[in-house]
Amino acid sequence: MTSYKELGLVNTKDLFKKAVSGGYAIPAYNFNNMEQMQAIIQACVETKSPVILQVSAGARKYANQNILRNMARGAVEYAIELGHNIPIALHLDHGDTFEICRDCIETGFSSVMIDGSHLPYNENVALTRKVCEFAHSQKDYVTVEGELGVLAGVEDDVSSEHSHYTEPSEVVDFVSKTKVDSLAISIGTSHGRAKFKPEQCTKDSNGILIPPPLRFDILEEIEKQIPGFPIVLHGSSSVPVEYVQLIEKFGGKLSDSVGIPEDQLRRAAKSAVCKINIDSDGRLAMTAIIRQVFTQKPDEFDPRKYLGPARDELKKLYAHKNQNVLGSAGQA
Ligand SMILES: [Zn+2]
Repeated sequence: MTSYKELGLVNTKDLFKKAVSGGYAIPAYNFNNMEQMQAIIQACVETKSPVILQVSAGARKYANQNILRNMARGAVEYAIELGHNIPIALHLDHGDTFEICRDCIETGFSSVMIDGSHLPYNENVALTRKVCEFAHSQKDYVTVEGELGVLAGVEDDVSSEHSHYTEPSEVVDFVSKTKVDSLAISIGTSHGRAKFKPEQCTKDSNGILIPPPLRFDILEEIEKQIPGFPIVLHGSSSVPVEYVQLIEKFGGKLSDSVGIPEDQLRRAAKSAVCKINIDSDGRLAMTAIIRQVFTQKPDEFDPRKYLGPARDELKKLYAHKNQNVLGSAGQA
């Protein structure tokens, strides 16, 4: 049994309170390896931003949960070494059973998501409440994120063919019965790098797909129901055209890529949305640079020579997100 405080981590309670009242969102960046972790910490220290390090089911399988939580401890020490002790939370992304959440809580995660959004409403309530009771009764309070509504798209082991928006009339009941600390909602974001089908989009003069706008009307209705309550957006990568083009220039193929425009996320971050999940953009940045190195330097075979530049690009991307999209820069 390890408490997150022993690892130097914080839960999300205070982070969200400040983010809601300050009109910004905390970045939640997924990590699976050392280079991603380093890029996240470098960017967040440089921009003085709090951060949530996020671990998906896929990451736990790929990298091992024990390694990842010790990397999070390393991240805390790394931030201090880089000169700024930013608050860092370690969060389980899309936990789908009570047991997985309990396991993460007992090994040092400061926050977990229990995703019962695919279940019938009453079962989602019961499962989420059970996780909250366990998480909140720990010596050091662990925060819990629940979800209402279903996002479309594919993300590691989470996938859904069809989305349905969060029903604003359910949120008061859900929050009060479960005691969740934050709520992920569905207002038109989507997992993965192809967030919409081309027929759902319009095209600009350069032939770039423009997605349908987020449903700010639903967000506003939810905010009216639970004023000041921390809201979370999943699937909020913007899928930058520059990265997609770079990947395709150097031999990749990512047809029909489309993300959420950054100005819409900026608008959402100013509301009660206080945590924005970004994963695909980081994958694209790393892949673009690695492909570039492989094409331009075919004799290169030292992993540091392609993972290094990929890490530098990732850091630039995250710093940009903190400064220009989430507004979290300068908040730590
Ligand atoms: Zn998600």
